[in-house]
Amino acid sequence: MSDTFRAYQITKDEDGQKVALTTLTEHDLMDGDVTVKVEYSAINYKDGLAMTGSAPVVRRFPLTPGIDFAGTVTASENSTFAAGDKVLLNGFGVGEVHSGGFSEVARVDGNWLVPLPDGITARQAMAVGTAGYTAMLCILALENHGINPESGDVLVTGAAGGVGSVAIAILSKLGYRVVAVTGRSSERDYLTSLGASEIIDRQPFSEKARPLAKELWAGAIDVAGGNTLANVLSQITYGGAVAACGLADSMSLPTSVAPFILRGVALYGIDSVMAPMTKRQQAWQRIAEDLDFSKLETLSNEINLEEVPAAAEAILAGTIRGRTVVKII
Ligand code: NDP
Repeated sequence: MSDTFRAYQITKDEDGQKVALTTLTEHDLMDGDVTVKVEYSAINYKDGLAMTGSAPVVRRFPLTPGIDFAGTVTASENSTFAAGDKVLLNGFGVGEVHSGGFSEVARVDGNWLVPLPDGITARQAMAVGTAGYTAMLCILALENHGINPESGDVLVTGAAGGVGSVAIAILSKLGYRVVAVTGRSSERDYLTSLGASEIIDRQPFSEKARPLAKELWAGAIDVAGGNTLANVLSQITYGGAVAACGLADSMSLPTSVAPFILRGVALYGIDSVMAPMTKRQQAWQRIAEDLDFSKLETLSNEINLEEVPAAAEAILAGTIRGRTVVKII
């Protein structure tokens, strides 16, 4: 490892939050028992909020953003990892209260690291990234509820975004009939190529929801919250379930108890950040088995470290399609 390395740093003063690509030394690394040469990171919605300061995601300063990364261990005092091991990290407050992936070097608690699953490269792991790993957590929740391809159609909101794109690719490979909700009619061919059988416009989902609507979907993955999630809940078939992971529409949930008490619908909350290690490893193993990696190529783009600020703006503007991988070294 060279003495210096490149990293973004977010600082804060009385004028607010500032971000700059800078040169750091080992003394700038935070506490941890494993040091990683970061090869790839990714742009997640939360990274957009952190880089732009649009929401108080970063709660310690100075801090390197980037909620996920994949790379190679260069030094370890943790008995689970040794120099040369390939690892990945999602969440655990990295990129929020502990310096993260938009850096050539990261030092973290080894208990936060997942060994890179066999057959997945560091680049592929970050093309999946936190969004794709969260998509798999949502799918596991629906499966644990008892939903399978014979149960009926599965709805995916925010279809052209990161969570949505990976969810569609995995669900279709598993044999589900997937219905994609998008605000971007221009992405129809893209969504079809990922495996969506039907594409519907998101506009009606932004209207105030009725307590119950026509039963349409056995399950759903929702990245939007707000009226979108309320409408989705009102359309779930008897005994079905929704896995809710995001707030791209709104933090609120203007719904009634009708879907729960009259149709036995279940609402599963999905958190990737503090998910236990066994769950993470299960999710990453299933990603290795159930994601078509040629589809992953088509749903991801690669940028370099200099392009991170523009991509952070773009993901908040909803103009990024699929996943954006950041090549670090
Ligand atoms: P992206 O920005 O890649 O995708 C979000 C998509 O949501 C957009 O592409 C768009 O899809 C859709 N969308 C945007 N605005 C609205 C709106 N007003 N109403 C309905 N749909 C909208 O983000 P990610 O996929 O990476 O993340 C999605 C959400 O999941 C975010 O809120 C993120 O914070 C959350 N998340 C939560 C995690 C957790 O641990 N719970 C982990 C990872 C992500 P389209 O153009 O197709 O309509």
